[in-house]
Amino acid sequence: MEFDTITAISTPLGEGAIAIVRISGDEAIEIADRIFKGPGGKGLLEVKSHTIHYGHLIQPKTGEIIEEVMVSVMMGPKTFTREDVVEINCHGGIVSVNRVLQLILSQGARLAEPGEFTKRAFLNGRIDLSQAEAVMDLIRAKTDKAMNVALGQMEGRLSKLIQNLRQEILQTLAQVEVNIDYPEYDDVEEMTHRLFLEKGSYVKNEIEKLLHTAQQGKILRDGLATVIIGRPNVGKSSLLNSLVHENKAIVTDIPGTTRDVIEEYVNVRGVPLKLVDTAGIRETEDIVERIGVERSRAVLKEADLILLVLNYSDDFTTEDEKLFQAVEGMDVIVIINKTDLPQKIDMAKVKEKAASHKVVTTSLLEDRGVDELEEAIASLFFEGSLETGDLTYVSNARHIALLGQALQAIEDAIEAIEMGTPVDLVQIDFTKAWELLGEIIGESVQDNLINQLFSQFCLGK
Ligand code: GDP
Ligand code: ZN
Repeated sequence: MEFDTITAISTPLGEGAIAIVRISGDEAIEIADRIFKGPGGKGLLEVKSHTIHYGHLIQPKTGEIIEEVMVSVMMGPKTFTREDVVEINCHGGIVSVNRVLQLILSQGARLAEPGEFTKRAFLNGRIDLSQAEAVMDLIRAKTDKAMNVALGQMEGRLSKLIQNLRQEILQTLAQVEVNIDYPEYDDVEEMTHRLFLEKGSYVKNEIEKLLHTAQQGKILRDGLATVIIGRPNVGKSSLLNSLVHENKAIVTDIPGTTRDVIEEYVNVRGVPLKLVDTAGIRETEDIVERIGVERSRAVLKEADLILLVLNYSDDFTTEDEKLFQAVEGMDVIVIINKTDLPQKIDMAKVKEKAASHKVVTTSLLEDRGVDELEEAIASLFFEGSLETGDLTYVSNARHIALLGQALQAIEDAIEAIEMGTPVDLVQIDFTKAWELLGEIIGESVQDNLINQLFSQFCLGK
């Protein structure tokens, strides 16, 4: 395939000391060569593929030095896009990056559309659609673990599973054709039904397993929505702060502070948390009243985990009790804070209310108990299963939807078989499942779907 040469900034703007500007296409190396000056005067057209070069970017007309850079030259097809690719590492400031970009554009490259690099990789056959989407997830991945899932998917784990399933379906359909074409067997009908039933159940089971990972995949990508609740002054904000300070805060494009809740992303022992302090701003308001407010309720409803904070040096009040009621049936960790102060709380009462929930005591003032809390968070959700398993997590909304539809088609098929429906109708359902699974990996997808997908990518990817 032939494409023009495109360029874009491939690193988030304003983040980090170094930025990368990427060029891809037939003229990528020529364009870079025209604006690059190495110490020995050696041009980029003479260098070996997959090498990196120190030098300066210059204005070709005037010879003016624009930037100090490192330039990677990579010839296709062993590149991300399978085209010739040049990556220019320059200083990360917006002004200098833009200058570099302008320079490249002035030499005839075109500004890439969002996701266009990945789209080329797809169109040039380097990656399939689920891998392309994984790249998008990778860009957005907020923790190492989420990164691994995205990487696994990129390496084609999901693709392989889907391909196997499609193969199963295809073979079943082929076998059924054979049965129909050679009706000398007297039990063709029964054989065919048995085959459909057996293979259908297998495929159904596999799709269900994949869908089961979907929820965990979502958590890994978006973070466990964790809401901190408690009466005023019990230490909610202190808890948020200590979790943020003891753990690497995750850089996010989502603003940290919304109108009346504070949100922070942290990585607690590999568990990504999206921490929400409901009483983040207006401390004076009565918390129970706040809990009654629509918005707080909505926040609670969305929560994957509740951190309910109590005051060790105060009575267990009816307000505390109402909080327990508000989070009934949810995953809750009870935190009894301010253990450095004299005890006033009735522990027996707390234990009774907490029932099966984990209870942790802390003194956030003296920095005690936070380890135990982190341990509790990690074990509550991951019980080691994520540590050991090399499960494939389905975390992409489009994949989940398609898997759901494919599952439905297979279930329809199984039902039809059980009702003794004619074979050709069962074949239709099987074929439908095959097509739907194909859409996940970009086989049998229409062009407009592809365009829509790639336009979601960040610029420069
Ligand atoms: P929030 O209203 O629930 O968010 O509570 P804050 O985190 O704002 O804390 C209220 C007050 O309690 C502040 O003065 C904190 O310094 C103090 N505080 C927080 N944790 C502890 C603790 O473990 N021990 C003591 N003695 N004071 C604490
Ligand atoms: Zn607070």
